[in-house]
Amino acid sequence: MASQPIDPKRILLDKIKAKGGWVNAHAHIDRAYILNGDNFKLTDEALATKWDLSDEFKKNASVDDIYDSMARVVEDMIRQGVQALGSFIDVDPVIGDKAIQAARKLRDRYQDDIELIFINQVVKGVMDPEARKWFETGAEFVDIIGGLPEKDAGHEAEHLDILFETAKKNGGKPLHVHIDQYNSPDQRDTELLADKTLEHGYQGKVAAVHCISVGAQPAKYRQELYKKMKDAGLSVIVCPCGWIDNSWVAGQDHDVIGPIHNAIAPVKEMVAAGLNVALGTDNIRDIYKPFSDGDMWTELRFLLEACRFYDLDALADIASVNGKAALFID
Ligand SMILES: [Zn+2]
Repeated sequence: MASQPIDPKRILLDKIKAKGGWVNAHAHIDRAYILNGDNFKLTDEALATKWDLSDEFKKNASVDDIYDSMARVVEDMIRQGVQALGSFIDVDPVIGDKAIQAARKLRDRYQDDIELIFINQVVKGVMDPEARKWFETGAEFVDIIGGLPEKDAGHEAEHLDILFETAKKNGGKPLHVHIDQYNSPDQRDTELLADKTLEHGYQGKVAAVHCISVGAQPAKYRQELYKKMKDAGLSVIVCPCGWIDNSWVAGQDHDVIGPIHNAIAPVKEMVAAGLNVALGTDNIRDIYKPFSDGDMWTELRFLLEACRFYDLDALADIASVNGKAALFID
């Protein structure tokens, strides 16, 4: 007799629920929903250009404006059954401490409904003295220290050293680092992050966010890299919708040759290698991702389709408990 038809989506959603619900391990909720008729035309700019294009909003926004963006995301996460949310918040010379103030208020309001973990975004880098000052201020407030080595291009190792030293100074806080975002075979920053994690004795306290360029490397390199990442205890956080377009929009004006792959970290391989992989939404309706709506199922669907990964238990873990591990929630 033939077995009964199944609905794999239903099975997956039930498994996620049984594990306490979704975990959104990466977002930028302070800049969500800031898309408007004027800034929509900026959506086509290159990534590194966009890093400065939110400045106008950040300069003019009040703490209440930022709080409203954050609260709208958090309400939507609660509605979806998200148990924990890890979000970067900008702390830099443009926005000052406004996102910190909004985050404080947010945690007071929602702490009984959802676990909120804050990470400081360093969209102005950590090398510039004024940016560095705000980075230090952000580092004191947040639960996890955030990084973006590409902003200090040419000084990636130095940027990482500053992150680790600052994390140690702040009682050994863990790290989340945006890494290997360009989907380029010339970029090997995930390996650098693993090396730095080992060098600083920070095993098991670092999450690598995105790792898109890993898929642009040859298979043999990838397997060696996973071993090193495992030794360093690196978690990986993927945000499928945010990056699936990254085969050509990252400011590249020429063809880049590499192994054929979708623009996402090789999740299936990473899980097989024993790495902790988690899921995030990244930007929501802003100039980076005008159509991203923070829907957790859409993110998981993109992941499983882009990687052709159908292991329901592994996917349920990625969508829930792995996120808690990546956010260092016991
Ligand atoms: Zn991010």
